Parts: sequence; structure tokens; C-alpha cells
Amino acid sequence: MTVPKPLLSLIIPLLNEADNLRPLHERLTASLAQVGQPYEILFVDDGSTDASPAILEDLFRRDPAHVRVIQFRRNFGKTAALSAGFAHARGQVLITMDADLQDDPSEIPAMLAKLDEGYDLVAAWRVDRQDSLDKTLPSRLFNFVVSRLTGVRLHDFNCGFKVYRRAVTDTVRLYGELHRFIPVLAHQQGFRVAELPVQHHPRHAGTSKYGAGRLLKGFFDFGTVLFLTTYLKRPLHLFGASGLAIFGVGTLINLYLAFLWLLREVGGVAGIGPIGTRPLLTVGVLAMILGIQLISIGLLGEMLRYFTFRPAEEYAIRRVLETETTENTTHLQI
Ligand code: UDP
Ligand code: MG
Repeated sequence: MTVPKPLLSLIIPLLNEADNLRPLHERLTASLAQVGQPYEILFVDDGSTDASPAILEDLFRRDPAHVRVIQFRRNFGKTAALSAGFAHARGQVLITMDADLQDDPSEIPAMLAKLDEGYDLVAAWRVDRQDSLDKTLPSRLFNFVVSRLTGVRLHDFNCGFKVYRRAVTDTVRLYGELHRFIPVLAHQQGFRVAELPVQHHPRHAGTSKYGAGRLLKGFFDFGTVLFLTTYLKRPLHLFGASGLAIFGVGTLINLYLAFLWLLREVGGVAGIGPIGTRPLLTVGVLAMILGIQLISIGLLGEMLRYFTFRPAEEYAIRRVLETETTENTTHLQI
């Protein structure tokens, strides 16, 4: 049996969601029937140890025209599951959704309509988020900081429910836990990002896989993203500037101390103590060394960039208007 190429690819990363999979499949099917476009549902089983694999196999048997299952050998994390989903999706529009039915499959048509307004990525915004305070509060702080510092005006970066044009998922490189920053990375590439308020429900069954601890990880990742989106292309601009400033301060301190030394040792001016025991000397020397190290790191960064340079990654083309040449134009005879 073969199936036609789908237009829509639903990607569901899941870890131990046995009791959610059947109702999820049912409601996705109902919602996608409404949309009326060819679709696939790609479940990425991120190393489940419960009955999820058996249930997915059964869903595949019952609905082989739509269901696809990718099973990881072990738990690799949600970002890896999404990456695998993006890489294997056959559709032109990709939809990601958590497996626990916290997001409502009935909102898919509205999300697609928003995408059709001319966006490349639509992120769901859980206006009335149904999670405990220990999750929603850190999340608010996180969203506020990320939105301010990146200029990507979204209220909810971390919602698993998003709709993408294929070009976005083909371009954005994901590793670690960077899935939270897909909108930032996409925006940086010039993709048009929008959000749509959606309903949010308590988990249908099972337990959450994340705790409040992700806030800290989220901020570390944010540091990475800021670096990747601003200074990755010019590492010396970041390290060189701070290095030069610190080196400059160190140099001034040591010049001042050298001047005192001259006055005392050569000029014979009375009342000036020895400089060798002054804490300021240590500060000056440290600052000079630190400055040189920072500049060297910046230069090393530039070197890495030089050797890993790929011209196609220096820009992102939205479209090209041109006329195809015919196959058999006359070739130059040399
Ligand atoms: N998930 C996953 N791999 C993991 C952790 C979570 O695929 O290592 C899936 C999980 O099964 C769910 C989605 O990611 O479909 C979101 O997880 P969860 O609902 O636990 O997060 P919360 O909604 O509590 O923030
Ligand atoms: Mg959830």
C-alpha cells in the first residue's frame, strides 16, 4: 500500500503517554477531517517505557494511511523528538502538539488560517494556562525576559503547539533543549512569526515530564541563543570589545604604578611607599592578562568561523523570481 504525499504533518513527541494516545488520535482525526487536506500524524516515541509503543503499533494498524511512528531507542528529550519529526515529515505545513491533550486539536483550523494570513510560524498562546503556579510563574518571567531581549513579541514561547511552514523547520538547527527558542531562531532568519490565543486544558492523563527546574536550564539555553543570534557571526566583536576594555583598565593601573615607582626610585620623592606590595598591582596585572585572554578567545572564535564557513548559511532567501533556462541551450565549444 502507498499513500499520497500529505500537505499537513502533525508531529507528536511523546514520552509515556499511554492513556492519552487513543483519545488524541481520535480528536486529531476529527479535526483534520474538518480541514479537508491530506495529512499524516507522525508520533515520535521518545523512549517510552509504558504501553505507548504497543498502542502506537495498534493505531498504525488501524489507520495506516495517516499514522506513522518513529520509536527512539531511549529517551533523548523533546527537542530531539521534534528534530526527528521535522526530518521525517512529508508535508509542507508542519504542526507540533504535545501528546497530553493540553492543547486542543479543534484549534488546528484556526492556527492554519492564521498561517495563511502570510506567516511562516504561528505559536499558540495559552492565555489561561492550566498548570500549577510553580510552572506558570517561572514561565511568565521567562517569556517576559526572552520577549524583551530578543524583540520577538510572543507571550508564550514554550507552548508545544505550533504551526510551521516547511522552510522554517528545514532551516532552524535544533540541539540540546533549544526547542523553546524555535520562534527566536526563526525570527532571526527573517521568517514571519505570529501568535494566536488558544484554549488550554489540564493534562488528560499521566504526569508532567518537566518540573520548575527547567527555568534555570531555560536561561542557560537563552544565553546560547543570544550568543548564536547576535555574536556567532562576529565572535571578536563580543570578546574583543570586553577584552580590550579590561586590558585598557589594567594598562592604566600599571602605568600609574610605574609612574609612582619612577618618582620614588629615580626622582627620590619622599613619602611614596613601595608598589610591589600594593593590591592594586595584582588588579592591574590580572586585568591585563584577562584582557589578552578574552581577545585571544575572540580571535580563536573567528578562526573557527573561518574554517567552518558555509556561504549558504550567511543569509536566508525568501524567494527568487527568474526564468528557467532550457535544458538544451547551445553549449560553448571550447
Ligand atoms: N516529552 C518528550 N520527551 C521528554 C519529555 C517530554 O517527548 O523527554 C513530551 C511529553 O510526552 C509531552 C510533551 O513532550 O507530549 C510535553 O511534556 P509535558 O506535558 O510533560 O510538559 P508540560 O505540559 O507539563 O510542560
Ligand atoms: Mg503537558
